[in-house]
Amino acid sequence: MIIQLLRRAPRWTGAILVALALLLPGARMPVFQADPLVQVGTALAAERIRVVTTTQDLAAIASEIGGDRVVVESLSRGYQDPHFVDAKPSFLVKLRKADLFIEVGRDLEIGWVPGLLQGARNPKILPGGTGFVDASAGVSLLEVPTNVSRSEGDVHPLGNPHYWLDPENGLVVAANIRNALSRVAPEDRALFDARFADFEARLAKRLDGWKKAAAAMGLSGTKVVSYHRSWPYFAHAFGFDVIDYVEPKPGVPPSPKHTQGLIASMKSQHVKLLIVEPYFDAKLPQQIARESGAALVILPPSVGATPQAADYFTLFDTQMALLGGALSGGGK
Ligand SMILES: [Zn+2]
Repeated sequence: MIIQLLRRAPRWTGAILVALALLLPGARMPVFQADPLVQVGTALAAERIRVVTTTQDLAAIASEIGGDRVVVESLSRGYQDPHFVDAKPSFLVKLRKADLFIEVGRDLEIGWVPGLLQGARNPKILPGGTGFVDASAGVSLLEVPTNVSRSEGDVHPLGNPHYWLDPENGLVVAANIRNALSRVAPEDRALFDARFADFEARLAKRLDGWKKAAAAMGLSGTKVVSYHRSWPYFAHAFGFDVIDYVEPKPGVPPSPKHTQGLIASMKSQHVKLLIVEPYFDAKLPQQIARESGAALVILPPSVGATPQAADYFTLFDTQMALLGGALSGGGK
């Protein structure tokens, strides 16, 4: 209960973080003291660009585009629920030194990032600053509500923010990151352009392979239920139908009544798969799978959620392997 309350108190978290920021060693010291003897321009050119991302998916794509010109760190890990990450004081240290900060946006991180940005005292990575990147810019969003509302705890008030799960959107993210890197290091623009073109070509080829795999395993056209609304972009990319959710609304825990209705509907519609994100307790999903006859598959929604999903490409490889196993009976 306490955990649930804290999860829904982003403003408290922000206040605590600002307080922590003031307690950090050197908090009242200037962040950077220029040595007049150092040729600042030369020193900066030799340094790598410090990129901090909220998720490992963004970190993976930033590494693809930045190559050895960047040092990339993700604040959260792929096995964590990206809506509800416990912010740590160490995050503030990383953000204070960052040249570029990249977030998924669309309110995905609203419960934990605004307080961190406020506490980091690095104006260039604040929204509107040269080092701030909203990776969702230019993405065609799904499930955009007609009126913005967080009523009853809905954590998707600005449309569904899990857009990185369509590889085509990964390319939009990569273009946003290329533009941002070129903005902070214009002397390396040609390198970022070349690495983007290479990423684009490799992604197109692999996407073709994943689509063929999805068709071959019978995923296309299959009826699926998922725990959270993480998969509409993935379903769009690979042609299956997510017909219902264990959560009655994104971020809202299921009631017994909702669960019973869900099981009945899964049975009557012959739902084959129950997809669950690894950060939810598997006990209820196991019961739903058992009673409905669907195969339960714990599917990594992010890079780093499992050791196999080590980068943006192996994330989709891993998902295809797990879905293939579940559809062929190996998941039961
Ligand atoms: Zn969500």
